[in-house]
Amino acid sequence: MSLRISPQNNIFRCFGCGKDGGPIEFVMEIEKKSYQEALSILSTRLNVQ
Ligand SMILES: [Zn+2]
Repeated sequence: MSLRISPQNNIFRCFGCGKDGGPIEFVMEIEKKSYQEALSILSTRLNVQ
């Protein structure tokens, strides 16, 4: 997997499949989750209420 992440912009690009996007898309891509699952994971990790 070839991923390029720009933390300052909070975006990533995957050179494998050409996807790019924000943190939710990033979790979806690397962990193969659905949008709702990715959202849940991010909320937990970031400790968002
Ligand atoms: Zn990809």
